[in-house]
Amino acid sequence: MPARSGAQYLKGLQEQEREVWLRGERVKDVTTHPGLANGARAIASLYDLQHDPAHRDEMTYAAPGGDRLGLSFIIPRTTQELERRGAMMLRWARTTCGMMGRSPDFMNVTFAAWAAAASYFARGRNEFGENMRRYYEYIRDHDLTLTHSLINLQRSRTVSGVFNLEAGTALQVVRETDAGIVVHGARILATLGPLADEIAVYSPRVARHTETHSPFALNFAIPCGTPGLKFQCRESFDLGRSHFEHPLGSRFEEMDCVVFFDDVLVPWERVFLLGDVDLLNGTATATHSMTHTAHQGAAKNIAKCEFVLGVALLMTKTLGNGHLPHSEERLGELMLYTELMKACMRAAEADAQLDEWGVMCPAALPAESTRNLFMTAYPRMVEILQLLGSSSFMITPSEADFSGPLAPEIEQYLATDTATARERVKLFRLAWDIAGSAFGSRQVLYERFFASDPLTRARALGALYPKDETMARVQEFLDDE
Ligand SMILES: Cc1cc2nc3c(=O)[nH]c(=O)nc-3n(C[C@H](O)[C@H](O)[C@H](O)COP(=O)(O)OP(=O)(O)OC[C@H]3O[C@@H](n4cnc5c(N)ncnc54)[C@H](O)[C@@H]3O)c2cc1C
Repeated sequence: MPARSGAQYLKGLQEQEREVWLRGERVKDVTTHPGLANGARAIASLYDLQHDPAHRDEMTYAAPGGDRLGLSFIIPRTTQELERRGAMMLRWARTTCGMMGRSPDFMNVTFAAWAAAASYFARGRNEFGENMRRYYEYIRDHDLTLTHSLINLQRSRTVSGVFNLEAGTALQVVRETDAGIVVHGARILATLGPLADEIAVYSPRVARHTETHSPFALNFAIPCGTPGLKFQCRESFDLGRSHFEHPLGSRFEEMDCVVFFDDVLVPWERVFLLGDVDLLNGTATATHSMTHTAHQGAAKNIAKCEFVLGVALLMTKTLGNGHLPHSEERLGELMLYTELMKACMRAAEADAQLDEWGVMCPAALPAESTRNLFMTAYPRMVEILQLLGSSSFMITPSEADFSGPLAPEIEQYLATDTATARERVKLFRLAWDIAGSAFGSRQVLYERFFASDPLTRARALGALYPKDETMARVQEFLDDE
């Protein structure tokens, strides 16, 4: 089956009944629900790009049978294939202004890396390796969208940072049957949950599971409509307003969910890891899936930086303050983040190396650095927008006001030397959706935490860093008398 179109993706969501709850009601059809439909349309537009004659070759690759498949599923074997994948992911990220971090490529690159390293999973049980290979081919050939939830809810925290997992809260195996494992418990945070075909359940990469966590050590994937699986949405940040009023919220709501597993049967062929804490803790590093997801994240970061910078430049042009020293300094900082993200992406691709699985793997340090840097850079970028825009964020009448009784005053007094009142308000409504609205605030939270908490991220980078080499240089200096 070739790469899907947007219509095929939406049809797939409609055909698979799933249990999604939003504001106390069960959502009948996620593709038409006012809080979710526009997000579904945004994902559909990504799939449509695969069929756009102008982009088809950039977005897909030819399978041996002749079908064209989504390029983020490719297992890159050469630098050229890796760069092609990077360009494809950047195109997708630009389509959503970098505001849909969990676009399907995030999970596609994960499973591509895992399929290439299938023998890693076979170390747990022989059949798990084959399960992984087959599952990858299945999602690739059907061009499916996946969500994932890695974190167990905890009722209290340990000082050490090791997960404090308890039966009755965390997701665990409650029994094994001939058909598969039965799991019970809750997980966070399935971004894109209601808008995905399948959910993958595994664990974050830094070793925070101990030997006692064996019942919670899992890696599997099942359809979102599997009986007993329940998605609890947060409030939607698509407020049902026009593109003029909430330009981002009305387009790119990707939704986050808590997932409840009420004695959910996971068929054996969908189990990739069971009970082995060491394999679980080592998965992302040993298979290098972490570096491939960092590659996807780097593309998203570039798109997001470019977009925020573009908004900031337009804001200062509109307000006529771009030439003032403090504006120049702030714009310079945004340019710096943008160029750093591009440089890291380029370095990750240029210094890529074949790994032990025969996969062309992006260089880990530059790829991971974009993730760590963005946890503090993005909140700062948003702060810069706030500093540049000041009261203009509040000089934002609604679209209806432009045809109301105060329209003449609005048109006259809100215009600037370079923009009509309408242009100014439209721009600042966009800037508010980045720097102030619920949608924008969630983006900041996302960038702070989506790839784990700051301490865990710092430890992850520290584990990769060639510390001995760095110290040796200083030691050499000290020893040189
Ligand atoms: C918008 C958004 C989308 C997300 N999407 C996904 C997704 O699609 N899939 C998914 O699996 N996950 C997702 N995540 C979840 C993300 O993986 C977690 O938020 C992240 O791992 C941090 O865990 P936590 O939220 O439980 O933070 P906590 O563990 O509650 O940490 C909160 C704060 O306390 C600090 N802290 C915690 N424990 C300790 C300690 N022992 N000592 C010192 N400090 C401590 C942390 O450093 C952090 O600053 C998403 C998160 C957000 C915010």
